[in-house]
Amino acid sequence: MLEVVRVAALSDNYVWLIHDAVTDTTVVVDPGEAAPVIAALDARGWRADAIWTTHWHPDHTAGNAELKARYGCAVIGPEAERSKIPTLDHGVDEGDTVQIGDHQATVLMTPGHTAGHIVFHFADDGLLFSGDTLFAMGCGRLFEGTAAQMFANMQRFAMLPDATIVHGAHEYTLSNGRFALTVEPDNAVLIARMVDVEGLRADGLPTLPTTIGLERATNPFLRAQSVEQFAERRAGKDAFRG
Ligand SMILES: [Zn+2]
Repeated sequence: MLEVVRVAALSDNYVWLIHDAVTDTTVVVDPGEAAPVIAALDARGWRADAIWTTHWHPDHTAGNAELKARYGCAVIGPEAERSKIPTLDHGVDEGDTVQIGDHQATVLMTPGHTAGHIVFHFADDGLLFSGDTLFAMGCGRLFEGTAAQMFANMQRFAMLPDATIVHGAHEYTLSNGRFALTVEPDNAVLIARMVDVEGLRADGLPTLPTTIGLERATNPFLRAQSVEQFAERRAGKDAFRG
């Protein structure tokens, strides 16, 4: 079994460490800064054997160079964003596979937040590393893509098994949930989830990872029934202050 460790970085980013005990290897997903990642690795006696990058934004890649220099590890990320990720060693595209120990993840292209955004899906392990495409009760902003593209991403995610554990890259859950309640004020699962989330955040505790099942029940973007409805909700969230 893979062990996944959440590392808080910058103001609200999560870097995820994926560790395979059999081969004693560790993948670092989206290190926006190096120091907390090195501290988390050191605390466990681990080293970084590879970096997996979901998209070019600096809060996901700014730690790449220092980690590469320290561990000599390679960076795997979206070939489509090669020009914007100078630390990239191996570019990947839709359907490519990446490996840690005996565990294989498939690369899914999920354009929208950025034009070449990818996510990593371990189908056999039921793990999704969703970068800035899928968050708890939210989805990424459309900086370089269209609502139709992001809606298609949501449709793909919605077809994954409910038990799939979703590792998003930001702690945006409180704001996402407050917006979700404006969309579906009578959604009982959402109301109950927000009680939990308010409590966790009041104690300074994380709300990720989440699951596809929980998102299918509470995430207004995953629950959108059409591109038009998705676009309306995305625009609503962009304007939402709460
Ligand atoms: Zn981003």
